[in-house]
Amino acid sequence: MLQKYDFHCHSTASDGALPPADVVRRAHLQGVTTLALTDHDTTAGLAEAAQAAAECGMRLIAGIELSANYANQCLHIVGLNIDAGHPLLVEGLLKQQTLRDQRAFKIAEKLEKKGIQGAYQAVTQVAGNGEITRSHFADFLVAQGHVATQQDAFDRYLSKGKPAFVSTQWASLDDVIGWIRAAGGIAVLAHPLRYNLSHKWMNRALTDFKVLGGHGVEVVTGRASVDDIRLSWQLAHKHQLFASVGSDFHNPENPWVELGRLAALPEGVQPVWSLFSSAE
Ligand code: AMP
Ligand code: MN
Ligand code: MN
Ligand code: MN
Repeated sequence: MLQKYDFHCHSTASDGALPPADVVRRAHLQGVTTLALTDHDTTAGLAEAAQAAAECGMRLIAGIELSANYANQCLHIVGLNIDAGHPLLVEGLLKQQTLRDQRAFKIAEKLEKKGIQGAYQAVTQVAGNGEITRSHFADFLVAQGHVATQQDAFDRYLSKGKPAFVSTQWASLDDVIGWIRAAGGIAVLAHPLRYNLSHKWMNRALTDFKVLGGHGVEVVTGRASVDDIRLSWQLAHKHQLFASVGSDFHNPENPWVELGRLAALPEGVQPVWSLFSSAE
């Protein structure tokens, strides 16, 4: 059977719009044969996703997307094929989740200083038991009419250097890779081109990432252009990292990103799926 992989997507366990079971069913309808659910700093959606995957006969890889500090930057590290119950990972996630909640409170305080009330209450209500992300604040700012789009919310309020940005000391890259490895997973640098790192810093980051035990880098992502894929492929090739593919799907209302809708991975790099035995 033709295999279709998507190793990066989100559910209501963090900033996705669909509950985990709906993400799985939608992926299945899109022809995905192996999906990794990778919510921000939480594994809370995985049990529901696993049950839905079993029901529709699709393979689910237990995943996560962790925020990591590296050289005063926040990098996103996707963990694939993790044991979600591993104590080191569980303990690490509790800390990240506390940081997320504290940061949300501070973002809301900063918005209040700009005359925007009620953000914390609104985002906690929408997020429910899920992790609060800046996307929740972006949606709130759109809903309240302060900005026209999510992108505007980031550009005017939420991005680094903007009035409601809160610098956060996420776990170090070393720790994050350590948790993923302890939990038996493989660590993948998500969307490498989204950090706006210079060539020199990107290569430094990937060298350090590999020394620390990182395994792969995303080469094909949901909105990647042909040039983006070529650049990311070169990074994987140069650093001899496994290549991952993931849509970073969040919301079915975004017409640009769909589960499983990904360009083919070019030849000449090792796909991450070669690490997952088909018998599992
Ligand atoms: P956080 O991890 O809480 O900082 O939130 C990061 C999430 O916000 C990302 O996973 C994206 O879903 C979203 N995001 C980050 N930057 C942007 C942007 N410039 N435009 C739209 N969404 C963004
Ligand atoms: Mn997100
Ligand atoms: Mn990300
Ligand atoms: Mn993501």
